[in-house]
Amino acid sequence: MFKRCLIGLAALVTLSALASCSRGPKPTSEPAQPPGPPPPTTAHIAPSVEALIDSALTDPYAYEKLGELCDEIGHRLTGSRGMERAIAWSQLSMYQAGFDSVWTEPVTVPLWTRGHEWARCTAPVEFDLTMTGLGLSDGTGPDGIEAEIMVVASYDELDARAAEAEGKIVLFDMPWEGYGSVVKYRTGGASAAARHGAVAVLVRSATGVSLGAAHTGMMQYADDAPRIPAAALTVEDAGRLRRLAEKGLKPRVHLYMEAINHGETTSYNVVGDIRGRELPEEIVLVAGHLDSWDVGTGAQDDGAGVVLALASARILLKQDLRPRRTVRVVHFTTEEYGAQGGKAYLEAHRSELDRHVLAIECDSGAFAPRGFSVQADSTVVEALALAAAQLARVAPDEWSVSKGGSGADIGAIVREGVVGAGHRVDTTHYFDVHHSGADTFEKVDPDHLAQNVAAIAGLIYTVAESPARPGSIPAGQNSSGGHR
Ligand SMILES: [Zn+2]
Repeated sequence: MFKRCLIGLAALVTLSALASCSRGPKPTSEPAQPPGPPPPTTAHIAPSVEALIDSALTDPYAYEKLGELCDEIGHRLTGSRGMERAIAWSQLSMYQAGFDSVWTEPVTVPLWTRGHEWARCTAPVEFDLTMTGLGLSDGTGPDGIEAEIMVVASYDELDARAAEAEGKIVLFDMPWEGYGSVVKYRTGGASAAARHGAVAVLVRSATGVSLGAAHTGMMQYADDAPRIPAAALTVEDAGRLRRLAEKGLKPRVHLYMEAINHGETTSYNVVGDIRGRELPEEIVLVAGHLDSWDVGTGAQDDGAGVVLALASARILLKQDLRPRRTVRVVHFTTEEYGAQGGKAYLEAHRSELDRHVLAIECDSGAFAPRGFSVQADSTVVEALALAAAQLARVAPDEWSVSKGGSGADIGAIVREGVVGAGHRVDTTHYFDVHHSGADTFEKVDPDHLAQNVAAIAGLIYTVAESPARPGSIPAGQNSSGGHR
């Protein structure tokens, strides 16, 4: 796929050059042509994109900004002091980068605090468990909850053994078959177990590789079940409890959590524009989410995305490239509790959605770049792949621009028809650190971060500078004319 695209763009450039070379001196009898506008191709964009990539690959800005966010501010749980400081940092960073306008937009969000928490196996052998309460869980009350553990590997097993669950702490120790296969137990396990009389829920952390870290994340209570506390255990501790249970030793756990749901509060999305020079009303949006979990410092999730959106827009200004369309950076609040920031953006901008030419979300970390997945019909995907083929230079072995999902924050506007793109990276090690105390600054490779800035800046500029919106004219007229 990407090879064909590369050939397409190369052919376009080559054919244009050939055409102008082979024409030769004009016959003296032919009247001089009046100068007209440049032809509507994307070929003139290529040299600027090359310069952007070169500049981004050697610019320390993104890594320095990520260090500020992770080390000087730290975690950014919604409603926390860190998140408030991060919102101010985001605005200041956009001003300092030279954005034309920067503002905040209010978002109603849940306010949850963790408080002190612990868990301990009390029988048949005493040992401390490494745990983390799940986001939006209720607490246990001052005495905690002590009960026998019932270990299941799936909802099917829970249903089959439902009669055993009364009065127990249910532990979901499900096999890791990718995030999508296990996250449903983290979000819905508490209510599923509570329907059968369980008094609390523990889940095996959602990761394939574990070095003793517990991984948190959002849970949700169903309306038709009692609200029982929910926490994640390390893979190691979940396994030990399962092995004890399999031997018939009836392990017991004492769980203590001070977590409180306080209702709602107000947080803010931060929005910054670099105004387009010819079509300022048309917007190319690039985004990450500013909030994080309160374990670790949210470096890969999603400090990296925040910095990628900021740095890729800023490098256009640094290179003195002001594209035709407006480039808009959005630092969303509260992705982790259900993308409330993205939904609020939709409501605030519903009347101007048709002016959003493309929305790009960066929320997969900053590992080795792999391209973009585009959530649109095939014509648009093809047109974008063709226009952005030049970016394969940043990851020559495994690059693609192909059809796929975009992201949680921009999901709301994409569902309303905006073309969405997800920034893709090598996610082999993403879930090793995701939502855990291990998601810290030193896990981000500065070279990978710079390569991702280069790729995203190149895509933003290509689309914002392109004469036509991606897919709005037949691909053959835009750039694939080079095939013929
Ligand atoms: Zn995220």
